[in-house]
Amino acid sequence: MRRFRLPALALACVITLQPVALAQRAGEVSGAATATTGAARRAAERITASDLRSYLHFVASDEMEGRDTPSRGLDLAAKFIAMNLALWGVRPAGDDGTYFQRIALRRTRIDAAASSAEVGGHRFEHGSGFYDNAPVGGSFEGAPLVYVGHGWLVKSKNINPYEGVDVRGKVMIVAGGGYLPKEAGTSTDALGKPGEDWMHPYEYAVSHGARAVVAMPTYRTLLKWERGRQSQSQERSQLAVEKFQTGEGANTVPAIYEGANGEIGINSGRPAGVPFVTASLAMLDKIFQGERRSASYLLEQAAVGARVESFDLNANKKLSLTVAARVEALTTQNVVGVIEGSDPVLKDEYVAVGAHYDHVGVGAPVDGDRIYNGADDDGSGTVAVLEMAHAFVSASPRPKRSILLVWHAGEEKGLWGSRYFVENSTVPLARVVAQLNIDMIGRSKRAGDMSKVNEQLTGPDEIYVIGSKKMSTELGDVSERVNDSFLGLKFNYRYDDPADPEQFFFRSDHFHYARKGVPIIFYFDGPHEDYHQPSDQPEKIDYRKMERVARTVFVTAWELASGARRPRVDKPLPPELAGEGKQ
Ligand SMILES: [Zn+2]
Repeated sequence: MRRFRLPALALACVITLQPVALAQRAGEVSGAATATTGAARRAAERITASDLRSYLHFVASDEMEGRDTPSRGLDLAAKFIAMNLALWGVRPAGDDGTYFQRIALRRTRIDAAASSAEVGGHRFEHGSGFYDNAPVGGSFEGAPLVYVGHGWLVKSKNINPYEGVDVRGKVMIVAGGGYLPKEAGTSTDALGKPGEDWMHPYEYAVSHGARAVVAMPTYRTLLKWERGRQSQSQERSQLAVEKFQTGEGANTVPAIYEGANGEIGINSGRPAGVPFVTASLAMLDKIFQGERRSASYLLEQAAVGARVESFDLNANKKLSLTVAARVEALTTQNVVGVIEGSDPVLKDEYVAVGAHYDHVGVGAPVDGDRIYNGADDDGSGTVAVLEMAHAFVSASPRPKRSILLVWHAGEEKGLWGSRYFVENSTVPLARVVAQLNIDMIGRSKRAGDMSKVNEQLTGPDEIYVIGSKKMSTELGDVSERVNDSFLGLKFNYRYDDPADPEQFFFRSDHFHYARKGVPIIFYFDGPHEDYHQPSDQPEKIDYRKMERVARTVFVTAWELASGARRPRVDKPLPPELAGEGKQ
């Protein structure tokens, strides 16, 4: 199907509406009724494979050290982008007349040497006697203890280990390492609203006034402990965005989140946090010495998923704990520019084009290489947006609406930059008519490549287009109509399937714009062998493909910026998706 393909609903409309009327309606939303305008095509020719190659060999060079957030490499890349924008006369749209939107970060480290615990007259050191599960500091003397089983509250499954016990002012002892217990299922996804329908023991402790959570290790954590002990010398640290909503008071980041591998993470940014540590066997023995249940009995029961009733430990037994947290304030930045539109009225509306200019930095060596260059992810998007900026700023006349350019930081950390931008938008977000997000467009599957790892990688003239029809039928129409009348790339909609396990719609920066009601299009080449590897290098990029995808995105943005009216959001995101955003 190369020509227009309309979603089922619109198909029903066709029976009543004449094809011409439909094209006319799409024409209203974009600059031209039938084909892309000549002006857009001419301007697109400024985007060339050789420019893209030159930029990418700089942005994804080893000297950029993988552009971690925050890092020197990332700041260098930001300056490089800003330098070019200034050269071309793009209007700064960051803070205080600059191209940079500063994002305050906090790095919390635990000072192991200054951390200790005491129970039953015995002192335990950080590292050997216990270790922290999250860099949340705190210190108290002589608190009583209460055992609460696995500590998870799950209303839909009638799981409530807190019946008959009060945790206020006490240290909660939790079995099973704080992990989701078998009886609750394999993931929290099906348990309803966090904090309401279900609660992690840590959240319960914070919201019910407990002094700390001491987790009993699982056999897995005990094994890991030994490995962890070797790395205990490395201070544990956690990086977090200080506040996403700068206007508001307390940090709104949820206290806990579920990591990609099911591990539970605690965000240290929340001021109301309490220490959360895992005790060693030696410390557990002291805690349960002389109690109705021994440590070894409780560990065995937990290992088989058996429930043991919650109980207060002997009232004379007290635990004292100090977890020393050192907080360091850091900053990073989004890079933001505006290319003003030519229409006196419509220039106050924006078509947003974005990419993330960060990657994962320096990490575990692979074949001796520790720098994760991120040439495709997302160096390709970073330089494509840069080249598009040059093409827009050089065009005359320019499209009617303005073009908003955002290079997001912290995408690899959890979509930080885009979340921060939409919460603190430097242009009225309600005036952003669509957001086009580019994340990995530089790789193609070679002919004859039958490898499993590249199975889903797109071909040289193919690209995944995600979300273009999810919120706005008209946006999807324009996207297809432009492509059909321009380079005719193969648009692959495989990842538009809401049941697709990869859930790519949630995994890049466009998601936060969509969450705020802005219809989006996400361009992506697919998973491949060098994804998040040091081998994601500029030499492996298909620059011809990158040029063609970048030109297509450019012309689509141009058309959206030229239409008489903005694309209508006829299918807003369901409220549960418009939540805080998946980590
Ligand atoms: Zn990426």
